Amino acid sequence: MNTDSAYKTLLETLRRHDRLGSIGGLIGWDELTMMPAGSADLRGEQKAILTELIFREAQKPEFRDQVEALEAVKDQLDSDQLAVVREARRDLDMVTHIPAEFAARKSRAQSASYQAWVKARNNDDFASFLPYLQEQLDLAKEQAAFFDVSDAYDYWIDQFDPGMTCATIEPLFAELAPQLRSLAERIINAPTPPPADVFKGFPVDKQEHFLREVVTSMGFNFERGRIDTSVHPFCGGHGQDTRMTTRFDANNPIDSLSSGMHETGHALYEQGLDDRFAGSALGKHVGMAVHESQSRLWENMVGRGAPFWKFWGPKYRALFPEQLAAINDQEFLRAFNNVAISPIRVDADEITYNLHIILRFELEKSLFSGAVAPADLPDAWNDYSARILGYTPKNFREGCLQDVHWSDGLFGYFPSYCLGNLLAAQLWETVQKDIPNIEDTIADGDFQPLREWLRKEVHARGRRLYTNGTAKAITGSELKTAPLVRYLSGRYLPLYSL
Ligand code: ZN
Repeated sequence: MNTDSAYKTLLETLRRHDRLGSIGGLIGWDELTMMPAGSADLRGEQKAILTELIFREAQKPEFRDQVEALEAVKDQLDSDQLAVVREARRDLDMVTHIPAEFAARKSRAQSASYQAWVKARNNDDFASFLPYLQEQLDLAKEQAAFFDVSDAYDYWIDQFDPGMTCATIEPLFAELAPQLRSLAERIINAPTPPPADVFKGFPVDKQEHFLREVVTSMGFNFERGRIDTSVHPFCGGHGQDTRMTTRFDANNPIDSLSSGMHETGHALYEQGLDDRFAGSALGKHVGMAVHESQSRLWENMVGRGAPFWKFWGPKYRALFPEQLAAINDQEFLRAFNNVAISPIRVDADEITYNLHIILRFELEKSLFSGAVAPADLPDAWNDYSARILGYTPKNFREGCLQDVHWSDGLFGYFPSYCLGNLLAAQLWETVQKDIPNIEDTIADGDFQPLREWLRKEVHARGRRLYTNGTAKAITGSELKTAPLVRYLSGRYLPLYSL
Protein backbone atom coordinates (compact mmCIF):
# COMPACT_ATOMS: atom_id res chain seq x y z
CA MET A 1 0.00 0.00 0.00
CA ASN A 2 1.17 3.49 -0.82
CA THR A 3 0.63 5.51 2.36
CA ASP A 4 0.31 8.86 0.60
CA SER A 5 -2.36 7.67 -1.80
CA ALA A 6 -4.25 5.87 0.99
CA TYR A 7 -4.20 9.10 3.00
CA LYS A 8 -5.49 11.08 0.01
CA THR A 9 -8.30 8.58 -0.49
CA LEU A 10 -9.30 8.90 3.17
CA LEU A 11 -9.36 12.71 2.86
CA GLU A 12 -11.65 12.38 -0.17
CA THR A 13 -14.00 10.12 1.77
CA LEU A 14 -14.11 12.53 4.70
CA ARG A 15 -14.77 15.41 2.34
CA ARG A 16 -17.67 13.46 0.86
CA HIS A 17 -19.07 12.92 4.40
CA ASP A 18 -18.71 16.63 5.06
CA ARG A 19 -20.57 17.56 1.87
CA LEU A 20 -23.35 15.11 2.60
CA GLY A 21 -23.69 16.47 6.13
CA SER A 22 -23.79 20.04 4.82
CA ILE A 23 -27.08 19.28 3.05
CA GLY A 24 -28.54 18.65 6.49
CA GLY A 25 -27.22 22.06 7.59
CA LEU A 26 -28.97 23.72 4.68
CA ILE A 27 -32.39 22.11 5.07
CA GLY A 28 -32.17 22.59 8.85
CA TRP A 29 -31.56 26.31 8.34
CA ASP A 30 -34.40 26.52 5.85
CA GLU A 31 -36.74 24.81 8.32
CA LEU A 32 -36.12 27.52 10.92
CA THR A 33 -36.18 30.53 8.60
CA MET A 34 -38.00 30.18 5.27
CA MET A 35 -39.97 26.93 5.18
CA PRO A 36 -43.76 27.28 4.96
CA ALA A 37 -45.32 25.79 8.12
CA GLY A 38 -47.37 23.29 6.11
CA SER A 39 -44.21 21.64 4.76
CA ALA A 40 -43.04 20.36 8.14
CA ASP A 41 -44.02 16.74 7.47
CA LEU A 42 -42.11 16.64 4.20
CA ARG A 43 -39.08 18.18 5.89
CA GLY A 44 -39.26 15.59 8.67
CA GLU A 45 -39.14 12.79 6.08
CA GLN A 46 -36.32 14.47 4.16
CA LYS A 47 -34.25 14.79 7.33
CA ALA A 48 -34.85 11.19 8.37
CA ILE A 49 -33.82 9.87 4.93
CA LEU A 50 -30.74 12.09 4.86
CA THR A 51 -29.71 10.94 8.34
CA GLU A 52 -30.02 7.34 7.20
CA LEU A 53 -27.95 8.04 4.05
CA ILE A 54 -25.22 9.75 6.09
CA PHE A 55 -25.09 6.75 8.43
CA ARG A 56 -24.94 4.26 5.55
CA GLU A 57 -22.24 6.24 3.79
CA ALA A 58 -20.06 6.13 6.91
CA GLN A 59 -20.82 2.43 7.44
CA LYS A 60 -19.46 1.46 4.02
CA PRO A 61 -16.70 -1.16 4.32
CA GLU A 62 -14.39 1.06 2.19
CA PHE A 63 -14.30 3.67 4.95
CA ARG A 64 -13.39 1.13 7.60
CA ASP A 65 -10.72 -0.36 5.30
CA GLN A 66 -9.20 3.08 4.68
CA VAL A 67 -9.02 3.88 8.39
CA GLU A 68 -7.65 0.47 9.37
CA ALA A 69 -5.06 0.47 6.60
CA LEU A 70 -3.63 3.75 7.86
CA GLU A 71 -3.86 2.69 11.51
CA ALA A 72 -1.65 -0.26 10.56
CA VAL A 73 1.14 2.04 9.38
CA LYS A 74 0.93 4.69 12.10
CA ASP A 75 4.69 4.86 12.49
CA GLN A 76 4.96 6.18 8.92
CA LEU A 77 2.48 9.04 9.47
CA ASP A 78 3.27 12.65 10.39
CA SER A 79 1.36 14.48 13.12
CA ASP A 80 -1.27 15.93 10.76
CA GLN A 81 -1.93 12.54 9.24
CA LEU A 82 -2.17 10.96 12.69
CA ALA A 83 -4.76 13.56 13.71
CA VAL A 84 -6.78 12.84 10.57
CA VAL A 85 -6.76 9.10 11.24
CA ARG A 86 -7.61 9.59 14.93
CA GLU A 87 -10.71 11.67 14.06
CA ALA A 88 -11.75 9.33 11.25
CA ARG A 89 -11.66 6.54 13.84
CA ARG A 90 -13.93 8.63 16.10
CA ASP A 91 -16.40 9.06 13.20
CA LEU A 92 -16.23 5.37 12.40
CA ASP A 93 -16.82 4.27 15.99
CA MET A 94 -19.82 6.58 16.16
CA VAL A 95 -21.62 4.77 13.34
CA THR A 96 -20.47 1.25 14.14
CA HIS A 97 -20.99 1.17 17.93
CA ILE A 98 -24.52 2.57 17.88
CA PRO A 99 -27.09 0.06 16.54
CA ALA A 100 -29.44 1.43 13.87
CA GLU A 101 -32.41 0.29 15.98
CA PHE A 102 -31.19 2.45 18.87
CA ALA A 103 -30.58 5.50 16.65
CA ALA A 104 -34.10 5.31 15.23
CA ARG A 105 -35.64 4.80 18.69
CA LYS A 106 -33.70 7.73 20.10
CA SER A 107 -34.62 10.00 17.21
CA ARG A 108 -38.34 9.23 17.68
CA ALA A 109 -38.10 9.72 21.45
CA GLN A 110 -36.37 13.07 20.96
CA SER A 111 -39.13 14.48 18.76
CA ALA A 112 -41.77 13.41 21.29
CA SER A 113 -39.73 14.73 24.20
CA TYR A 114 -39.17 18.11 22.56
CA GLN A 115 -42.90 18.52 21.92
CA ALA A 116 -43.65 17.49 25.52
CA TRP A 117 -41.15 20.03 26.83
CA VAL A 118 -42.65 22.90 24.79
CA LYS A 119 -46.09 22.08 26.20
CA ALA A 120 -44.83 21.52 29.75
CA ARG A 121 -42.98 24.81 29.78
CA ASN A 122 -46.02 26.71 28.47
CA ASN A 123 -48.20 25.15 31.16
CA ASP A 124 -45.51 25.29 33.86
CA ASP A 125 -46.18 21.58 34.36
CA PHE A 126 -43.10 19.53 35.27
CA ALA A 127 -45.06 16.33 35.97
CA SER A 128 -46.10 15.99 32.31
CA PHE A 129 -42.45 16.27 31.20
CA LEU A 130 -41.01 13.91 33.83
CA PRO A 131 -41.44 10.60 31.90
CA TYR A 132 -39.71 12.15 28.86
CA LEU A 133 -36.83 13.46 30.94
CA GLN A 134 -36.41 10.02 32.51
CA GLU A 135 -36.39 8.46 29.03
CA GLN A 136 -33.81 10.94 27.69
CA LEU A 137 -31.52 10.25 30.65
CA ASP A 138 -31.91 6.48 30.18
CA LEU A 139 -31.16 6.80 26.45
CA ALA A 140 -28.09 8.93 27.18
CA LYS A 141 -26.77 6.24 29.55
CA GLU A 142 -27.66 3.49 27.08
CA GLN A 143 -25.74 5.24 24.28
CA ALA A 144 -22.66 5.73 26.45
CA ALA A 145 -22.72 2.01 27.29
CA PHE A 146 -22.10 1.14 23.61
CA PHE A 147 -18.63 2.64 24.02
CA ASP A 148 -15.67 1.63 26.10
CA VAL A 149 -16.04 4.35 28.73
CA SER A 150 -16.05 4.14 32.49
CA ASP A 151 -18.46 7.02 33.06
CA ALA A 152 -21.54 7.95 31.03
CA TYR A 153 -21.35 11.65 31.85
CA ASP A 154 -17.69 11.76 30.75
CA TYR A 155 -18.76 10.20 27.45
CA TRP A 156 -21.24 13.03 26.88
CA ILE A 157 -18.83 15.80 27.85
CA ASP A 158 -16.35 14.33 25.37
CA GLN A 159 -19.00 14.42 22.62
CA PHE A 160 -19.04 18.21 22.77
CA ASP A 161 -15.53 18.93 24.01
CA PRO A 162 -13.16 16.16 23.01
CA GLY A 163 -10.73 15.30 25.75
CA MET A 164 -12.57 17.07 28.57
CA THR A 165 -13.94 15.08 31.51
CA CYS A 166 -15.93 15.76 34.62
CA ALA A 167 -12.69 15.64 36.60
CA THR A 168 -11.01 18.32 34.46
CA ILE A 169 -14.03 20.63 34.67
CA GLU A 170 -14.85 20.26 38.38
CA PRO A 171 -11.88 22.16 39.85
CA LEU A 172 -12.29 24.99 37.32
CA PHE A 173 -15.93 25.55 38.19
CA ALA A 174 -15.32 25.13 41.93
CA GLU A 175 -12.70 27.88 41.76
CA LEU A 176 -14.78 30.16 39.56
CA ALA A 177 -18.19 30.10 41.26
CA PRO A 178 -17.43 31.92 44.55
CA GLN A 179 -15.27 34.54 42.81
CA LEU A 180 -17.95 35.42 40.28
CA ARG A 181 -20.68 35.39 42.89
CA SER A 182 -18.88 37.94 45.04
CA LEU A 183 -17.89 40.05 42.01
CA ALA A 184 -21.53 40.16 40.86
CA GLU A 185 -22.70 41.13 44.35
CA ARG A 186 -20.18 43.96 44.56
CA ILE A 187 -21.33 45.34 41.22
CA ILE A 188 -25.02 44.98 42.00
CA ASN A 189 -24.52 46.95 45.22
CA ALA A 190 -22.33 49.60 43.60
CA PRO A 191 -23.17 53.25 44.36
CA THR A 192 -23.44 54.04 40.64
CA PRO A 193 -26.18 51.80 39.21
CA PRO A 194 -26.89 51.93 35.48
CA PRO A 195 -29.69 54.25 34.34
CA ALA A 196 -33.01 52.40 34.01
CA ASP A 197 -35.16 51.96 30.91
CA VAL A 198 -32.60 53.23 28.40
CA PHE A 199 -33.22 50.67 25.70
CA LYS A 200 -36.82 51.30 24.72
CA GLY A 201 -38.21 52.22 21.29
CA PHE A 202 -35.24 51.46 19.01
CA PRO A 203 -36.69 51.09 15.46
CA VAL A 204 -35.88 47.65 14.12
CA ASP A 205 -34.81 48.81 10.63
CA LYS A 206 -32.13 51.04 12.16
CA GLN A 207 -30.93 48.24 14.44
CA GLU A 208 -30.66 46.01 11.41
CA HIS A 209 -28.67 48.63 9.49
CA PHE A 210 -26.25 49.05 12.39
CA LEU A 211 -25.76 45.32 12.91
CA ARG A 212 -25.09 44.78 9.21
CA GLU A 213 -22.34 47.41 9.30
CA VAL A 214 -20.75 45.81 12.37
CA VAL A 215 -20.98 42.29 10.93
CA THR A 216 -19.48 43.40 7.61
CA SER A 217 -16.65 45.12 9.38
CA MET A 218 -16.00 42.02 11.53
CA GLY A 219 -15.31 40.26 8.23
CA PHE A 220 -18.35 38.04 7.69
CA ASN A 221 -18.13 36.81 4.11
CA PHE A 222 -21.46 37.68 2.47
CA GLU A 223 -20.26 36.07 -0.76
CA ARG A 224 -20.53 32.73 1.03
CA GLY A 225 -23.09 33.42 3.69
CA ARG A 226 -26.22 35.29 4.57
CA ILE A 227 -28.11 36.64 7.57
CA ASP A 228 -31.80 36.09 8.15
CA THR A 229 -34.09 36.29 11.15
CA SER A 230 -35.35 33.44 13.33
CA VAL A 231 -36.99 33.05 16.73
CA HIS A 232 -33.72 31.92 18.31
CA PRO A 233 -30.52 33.19 16.67
CA PHE A 234 -28.13 30.52 15.43
CA CYS A 235 -25.27 29.97 13.03
CA GLY A 236 -25.88 27.08 10.68
CA GLY A 237 -25.05 25.91 7.19
CA HIS A 238 -21.38 25.37 6.40
CA GLY A 239 -18.19 27.41 6.29
CA GLN A 240 -18.56 27.65 2.51
CA ASP A 241 -22.22 28.66 2.79
CA THR A 242 -22.84 30.10 6.24
CA ARG A 243 -26.44 30.64 7.27
CA MET A 244 -26.57 32.92 10.25
CA THR A 245 -29.70 34.26 11.90
CA THR A 246 -30.55 36.98 14.36
CA ARG A 247 -33.68 38.60 15.79
CA PHE A 248 -34.80 42.14 16.51
CA ASP A 249 -36.87 43.66 19.29
CA ALA A 250 -37.50 47.43 19.41
CA ASN A 251 -37.30 47.26 23.22
CA ASN A 252 -34.20 45.10 23.44
CA PRO A 253 -31.54 46.38 21.03
CA ILE A 254 -28.72 44.92 23.18
CA ASP A 255 -30.00 41.44 22.47
CA SER A 256 -29.98 41.84 18.69
CA LEU A 257 -26.53 43.41 18.61
CA SER A 258 -25.00 41.01 21.12
CA SER A 259 -26.50 37.89 19.59
CA GLY A 260 -25.61 39.16 16.10
CA MET A 261 -21.97 39.62 17.08
CA HIS A 262 -22.05 36.29 18.93
CA GLU A 263 -23.30 34.36 15.89
CA THR A 264 -20.82 36.21 13.67
CA GLY A 265 -18.04 34.92 15.94
CA HIS A 266 -19.27 31.38 15.28
CA ALA A 267 -19.59 32.16 11.56
CA LEU A 268 -16.04 33.55 11.26
CA TYR A 269 -14.74 30.34 12.85
CA GLU A 270 -16.61 28.18 10.33
CA GLN A 271 -15.57 30.42 7.44
CA GLY A 272 -11.98 30.33 8.68
CA LEU A 273 -11.66 26.52 8.67
CA ASP A 274 -9.47 25.09 5.93
CA ASP A 275 -11.93 23.76 3.36
CA ARG A 276 -9.22 21.86 1.49
CA PHE A 277 -9.40 19.38 4.36
CA ALA A 278 -13.15 19.58 5.02
CA GLY A 279 -14.51 16.80 7.21
CA SER A 280 -11.07 15.85 8.52
CA ALA A 281 -9.24 16.89 11.70
CA LEU A 282 -7.40 19.56 9.70
CA GLY A 283 -10.62 21.25 8.57
CA LYS A 284 -13.11 20.92 11.40
CA HIS A 285 -13.70 22.85 14.62
CA VAL A 286 -12.27 21.53 17.90
CA GLY A 287 -15.52 21.37 19.85
CA MET A 288 -18.15 23.56 21.41
CA ALA A 289 -15.93 25.25 24.00
CA VAL A 290 -13.57 26.56 21.31
CA HIS A 291 -16.57 27.51 19.17
CA GLU A 292 -18.06 29.42 22.09
CA SER A 293 -14.73 31.10 22.78
CA GLN A 294 -14.99 32.64 19.32
CA SER A 295 -18.56 33.86 19.66
CA ARG A 296 -18.06 35.17 23.17
CA LEU A 297 -14.80 36.93 22.46
CA TRP A 298 -16.53 39.02 19.80
CA GLU A 299 -19.76 39.45 21.72
CA ASN A 300 -18.26 40.29 25.11
CA MET A 301 -14.57 41.18 25.07
CA VAL A 302 -15.04 43.27 21.91
CA GLY A 303 -18.71 44.26 21.73
CA ARG A 304 -19.16 45.24 25.39
CA GLY A 305 -15.96 47.21 25.70
CA ALA A 306 -15.14 50.92 25.67
CA PRO A 307 -12.78 50.68 22.63
CA PHE A 308 -15.57 49.21 20.47
CA TRP A 309 -17.98 51.94 21.52
CA LYS A 310 -15.41 54.68 20.99
CA PHE A 311 -15.72 54.01 17.27
CA TRP A 312 -19.28 52.71 17.00
CA GLY A 313 -20.89 54.88 19.71
CA PRO A 314 -21.18 58.05 17.56
CA LYS A 315 -22.76 56.00 14.74
CA TYR A 316 -25.17 54.45 17.22
CA ARG A 317 -26.10 57.83 18.66
CA ALA A 318 -26.64 59.20 15.16
CA LEU A 319 -29.15 56.42 14.51
CA PHE A 320 -30.89 56.76 17.86
CA PRO A 321 -30.40 60.42 18.89
CA GLU A 322 -33.55 60.86 20.97
CA GLN A 323 -33.41 57.50 22.71
CA LEU A 324 -29.85 58.15 23.91
CA ALA A 325 -30.06 61.93 24.45
CA ALA A 326 -30.30 61.78 28.24
CA ILE A 327 -27.30 59.54 28.96
CA ASN A 328 -23.57 60.04 28.60
CA ASP A 329 -21.11 57.48 27.27
CA GLN A 330 -20.21 56.06 30.68
CA GLU A 331 -23.88 55.63 31.59
CA PHE A 332 -24.49 54.00 28.24
CA LEU A 333 -21.72 51.46 28.91
CA ARG A 334 -23.10 50.72 32.37
CA ALA A 335 -26.61 50.23 30.95
CA PHE A 336 -25.15 47.95 28.26
CA ASN A 337 -23.26 46.02 30.94
CA ASN A 338 -25.95 45.71 33.58
CA VAL A 339 -25.34 42.92 36.12
CA ALA A 340 -28.18 41.21 37.94
CA ILE A 341 -29.01 37.95 39.68
CA SER A 342 -31.82 36.73 37.43
CA PRO A 343 -33.50 33.38 36.88
CA ILE A 344 -33.17 32.88 33.12
CA ARG A 345 -29.81 31.77 31.71
CA VAL A 346 -30.22 33.23 28.21
CA ASP A 347 -31.01 36.67 29.65
CA ALA A 348 -28.10 36.66 32.10
CA ASP A 349 -25.16 39.10 32.02
CA GLU A 350 -21.69 37.82 31.19
CA ILE A 351 -20.70 37.39 34.87
CA THR A 352 -23.70 35.54 36.34
CA TYR A 353 -24.15 33.56 33.11
CA ASN A 354 -21.33 31.31 34.25
CA LEU A 355 -23.12 30.60 37.54
CA HIS A 356 -26.13 29.39 35.55
CA ILE A 357 -23.85 26.98 33.71
CA ILE A 358 -22.17 25.73 36.89
CA LEU A 359 -25.63 25.06 38.34
CA ARG A 360 -26.53 22.88 35.32
CA PHE A 361 -23.19 21.07 35.46
CA GLU A 362 -23.77 20.15 39.12
CA LEU A 363 -27.28 18.93 38.31
CA GLU A 364 -26.13 16.86 35.33
CA LYS A 365 -23.47 15.22 37.50
CA SER A 366 -26.12 14.37 40.09
CA LEU A 367 -28.57 13.06 37.48
CA PHE A 368 -25.93 10.76 35.99
CA SER A 369 -24.61 9.54 39.35
CA GLY A 370 -28.15 8.93 40.59
CA ALA A 371 -27.75 11.32 43.51
CA VAL A 372 -30.74 13.19 42.10
CA ALA A 373 -33.60 11.26 40.47
CA PRO A 374 -35.42 13.00 37.60
CA ALA A 375 -38.53 13.17 39.79
CA ASP A 376 -36.57 15.22 42.34
CA LEU A 377 -35.11 17.60 39.77
CA PRO A 378 -37.32 20.62 40.61
CA ASP A 379 -36.34 20.57 44.30
CA ALA A 380 -32.71 19.92 43.49
CA TRP A 381 -32.71 22.74 40.94
CA ASN A 382 -34.10 25.16 43.48
CA ASP A 383 -31.61 24.09 46.16
CA TYR A 384 -28.60 24.30 43.85
CA SER A 385 -29.83 27.59 42.39
CA ALA A 386 -30.15 29.17 45.82
CA ARG A 387 -26.65 27.96 46.73
CA ILE A 388 -24.78 28.71 43.50
CA LEU A 389 -26.67 31.65 42.00
CA GLY A 390 -28.38 33.09 45.06
CA TYR A 391 -31.83 32.84 43.54
CA THR A 392 -34.76 30.50 44.20
CA PRO A 393 -37.01 30.05 41.15
CA LYS A 394 -40.66 30.91 41.66
CA ASN A 395 -41.94 28.29 39.23
CA PHE A 396 -40.74 25.54 36.85
CA ARG A 397 -40.44 27.95 33.95
CA GLU A 398 -37.92 29.96 35.95
CA GLY A 399 -36.25 26.74 37.03
CA CYS A 400 -35.84 23.30 35.57
CA LEU A 401 -38.10 23.76 32.53
CA GLN A 402 -36.32 26.82 31.11
CA ASP A 403 -33.78 25.14 28.81
CA VAL A 404 -34.46 23.02 25.74
CA HIS A 405 -31.23 20.96 26.01
CA TRP A 406 -32.26 17.98 28.15
CA SER A 407 -35.52 17.48 26.26
CA ASP A 408 -33.36 17.00 23.19
CA GLY A 409 -30.99 14.56 24.90
CA LEU A 410 -28.22 17.16 25.07
CA PHE A 411 -26.51 16.25 28.32
CA GLY A 412 -22.90 17.37 28.76
CA TYR A 413 -23.32 20.36 26.44
CA PHE A 414 -23.82 23.09 29.07
CA PRO A 415 -20.22 23.11 30.42
CA SER A 416 -18.97 24.18 26.96
CA TYR A 417 -20.53 27.62 27.37
CA CYS A 418 -18.52 28.39 30.49
CA LEU A 419 -15.36 26.68 29.22
CA GLY A 420 -15.75 28.89 26.12
CA ASN A 421 -15.76 31.97 28.36
CA LEU A 422 -12.58 30.79 30.10
CA LEU A 423 -10.85 30.26 26.77
CA ALA A 424 -12.11 33.57 25.36
CA ALA A 425 -10.45 35.38 28.29
CA GLN A 426 -7.19 33.46 27.79
CA LEU A 427 -7.21 34.33 24.09
CA TRP A 428 -7.98 37.96 24.91
CA GLU A 429 -4.94 38.18 27.18
CA THR A 430 -2.77 36.42 24.62
CA VAL A 431 -3.75 38.64 21.71
CA GLN A 432 -2.98 41.69 23.85
CA LYS A 433 0.54 40.34 24.38
CA ASP A 434 0.97 39.47 20.69
CA ILE A 435 -0.53 42.74 19.41
CA PRO A 436 -0.10 45.30 22.22
CA ASN A 437 -2.19 47.96 20.45
CA ILE A 438 -5.09 45.62 19.64
CA GLU A 439 -7.58 47.73 21.62
CA ASP A 440 -6.47 50.84 19.70
CA THR A 441 -7.21 49.09 16.41
CA ILE A 442 -10.69 48.21 17.69
CA ALA A 443 -11.18 51.83 18.81
CA ASP A 444 -10.28 52.84 15.23
CA GLY A 445 -12.97 50.52 13.87
CA ASP A 446 -10.40 48.14 12.42
CA PHE A 447 -11.16 44.51 13.27
CA GLN A 448 -8.72 43.05 10.80
CA PRO A 449 -5.77 42.52 13.17
CA LEU A 450 -7.96 40.65 15.68
CA ARG A 451 -9.72 38.62 12.99
CA GLU A 452 -6.47 37.62 11.30
CA TRP A 453 -4.92 36.66 14.62
CA LEU A 454 -7.91 34.42 15.43
CA ARG A 455 -7.81 32.97 11.94
CA LYS A 456 -4.17 32.04 12.22
CA GLU A 457 -4.10 30.98 15.88
CA VAL A 458 -7.50 29.31 16.23
CA HIS A 459 -9.41 28.70 12.98
CA ALA A 460 -6.57 27.38 10.84
CA ARG A 461 -5.59 24.82 13.49
CA GLY A 462 -8.72 22.77 12.91
CA ARG A 463 -8.98 19.82 15.30
CA ARG A 464 -5.34 18.85 15.29
CA LEU A 465 -5.53 19.17 19.09
CA TYR A 466 -8.42 18.90 21.52
CA THR A 467 -9.82 21.61 23.79
CA ASN A 468 -7.08 21.80 26.43
CA GLY A 469 -4.35 21.09 23.88
CA THR A 470 -5.58 23.92 21.69
CA ALA A 471 -5.74 26.28 24.68
CA LYS A 472 -2.20 25.37 25.69
CA ALA A 473 -0.76 25.66 22.19
CA ILE A 474 -2.14 29.18 21.75
CA THR A 475 -2.11 30.68 25.25
CA GLY A 476 0.63 28.63 26.93
CA SER A 477 -1.79 27.10 29.41
CA GLU A 478 -4.67 24.67 29.56
CA LEU A 479 -8.03 26.14 30.55
CA LYS A 480 -7.82 28.13 33.78
CA THR A 481 -9.96 30.61 35.67
CA ALA A 482 -7.68 33.55 36.47
CA PRO A 483 -7.83 35.29 33.06
CA LEU A 484 -11.65 35.37 33.07
CA VAL A 485 -11.74 36.76 36.62
CA ARG A 486 -9.07 39.35 35.68
CA TYR A 487 -10.95 40.35 32.54
CA LEU A 488 -14.33 40.73 34.31
CA SER A 489 -12.85 42.59 37.30
CA GLY A 490 -10.78 44.81 35.03
CA ARG A 491 -13.79 45.77 32.98
CA TYR A 492 -16.60 46.01 35.51
CA LEU A 493 -15.01 47.41 38.67
CA PRO A 494 -13.85 50.68 37.07
CA LEU A 495 -17.09 50.96 35.09
CA TYR A 496 -18.99 50.87 38.36
CA SER A 497 -16.45 53.12 40.17
CA LEU A 498 -15.39 50.27 42.48
ZN1 ZN B 1 -22.95 30.29 20.76
